[in-house]
Amino acid sequence: MSTGVIDAGLIGELAGIVGVAHVLQDPEITAGYAVDWTRRFAGATPLVIRPGDTAETAAVMGVLAGARIAVVPQGGNTGLVGGSVPLADEAVLSMRRLNVCEPVDELASQVTLGAGVTLADAQAHVAASGLSVGVDLAARDSATIGGMVATNAGGINVLRYGAMRAQVVGIEAVLADGTVVSHLAGLEKDNTGYDLGALLAGSEGTLGIITRVRSRLHPTQPERATALLAFETAADAVSAAAALRRSVASLHALEAVFEGAMEVVSEHLGTAPPVGRIDGTSNDTRVDGSPGGGAWLIAEAAARTDPSDELGAAVAELEDLVTDAAVALEPAARQRLWAFREQVTEAISAAGIPHKLDVTLPAARLAEFVDGVPAVVHAADPDARPLLFGHLGDGNVHVNVLGPAGAEPAESVDDAVLRYVASLGGSISAEHGIGTAKLSQLHLNRTPAELAAFSAIKRALDPDNILNPNVLLPQPG
Ligand SMILES: Cc1cc2nc3c(=O)[nH]c(=O)nc-3n(C[C@H](O)[C@H](O)[C@H](O)COP(=O)(O)OP(=O)(O)OC[C@H]3O[C@@H](n4cnc5c(N)ncnc54)[C@H](O)[C@@H]3O)c2cc1C
Repeated sequence: MSTGVIDAGLIGELAGIVGVAHVLQDPEITAGYAVDWTRRFAGATPLVIRPGDTAETAAVMGVLAGARIAVVPQGGNTGLVGGSVPLADEAVLSMRRLNVCEPVDELASQVTLGAGVTLADAQAHVAASGLSVGVDLAARDSATIGGMVATNAGGINVLRYGAMRAQVVGIEAVLADGTVVSHLAGLEKDNTGYDLGALLAGSEGTLGIITRVRSRLHPTQPERATALLAFETAADAVSAAAALRRSVASLHALEAVFEGAMEVVSEHLGTAPPVGRIDGTSNDTRVDGSPGGGAWLIAEAAARTDPSDELGAAVAELEDLVTDAAVALEPAARQRLWAFREQVTEAISAAGIPHKLDVTLPAARLAEFVDGVPAVVHAADPDARPLLFGHLGDGNVHVNVLGPAGAEPAESVDDAVLRYVASLGGSISAEHGIGTAKLSQLHLNRTPAELAAFSAIKRALDPDNILNPNVLLPQPG
């Protein structure tokens, strides 16, 4: 994609739409928009535009399309696959000013949110109505609703409510040429053609700029019980996870941390987990793929009445698998258990610049994968260190790989692990998307016919290839 010329006339047109304060060209200011959360993906941009509403977004896209300027839409910039930053001198369209939360529709249990509303603000906005957003994740203070739809974000409650696509009951978006498409009535039954919300969910900014989202809401489940369970092996943790899913109707989250990652987060928090032992022989650090490393599960039950008996009874039935368990009911105590899972990403980021591989395995291959990854990583880079954790309740494992002293591991690690995932029937991207990081591996999960269909959709909606042209899809030949 060759990008068009940014001259004084174009800047003047854009400033006339969004105001001069929202057209940024000073490199010291634009630099903040050009590096991602992981620091692994860093580029540069000649131009950041910050529209304030849908009409401004549409007018801006009309100007950019006319000049054939490639653009990277950006929300909270917490994406982890290099899709939210300009790596080829694209302009950045920052959506954070579209931050209006409309009144909650309590009759429908729905709300319409601006694309730039952060998840934390959305959660706070709907809480007064006794409702909650179906997706929750640790980046909640920065991640935006538009970015979460664009990546089809998952998070910790997918096993109960589904991912972000499942929350979308209406969408408003601006297409590449500035056309606005809006379908926000929120009718639960509405078979009037293609579902543009579902199409834009997971499109990673390549098909349209999301400006407003009509989201389903769910009854708040205020009573909570949280258990941290320790296991000797990944296989035991996987068996226990399956049993908890079968027996706990109020199961709200089911997360895993394997030993190497538990070591890193414990160091970061300055405290060891209250149950289980880190003995340095984990499946994360063994290179021969032998089973037996330590694993932890966080299981949270949530309901309108106290779910602790239900969770406690289910945990008691796991006595052959669990080596130790801690249960917490009070918010502060529950938060102390959650810290060993929620702080993992930050702890690894503090330790270095990892390669982040976010994968799903079929349940029957999960334990085999966890035990097999160290040998696969070792073969690609003997000095690299795999750290595993994730949303085990839905088969999602995050494989973070650090090189020596926190440096990046060899590039070949990514391909080796993702090929291993595909060989076991898994997905190379569970929830973070393809971005630029996994572009060259998309073919492991998608057939040539599927990729041709993707390209046809892209050409139809963005014929000049100006929307995130370097993300998700291989460049047109
Ligand atoms: C600590 C931490 C924990 C995380 N945990 C999880 C997790 O549990 N589950 C999970 O799924 N992700 C997780 N993430 C990743 C990230 O938070 C999600 O991908 C999130 O959905 C990104 O939202 P954002 O607003 O930051 O989007 P950005 O990072 O700004 O953008 C992400 C992608 O969406 C596109 N985009 C952004 N806004 C729009 C828009 N309005 N219209 C069209 N395209 C747009 C961008 O071009 C880019 O391709 C985590 C990240 C961090 C840092």
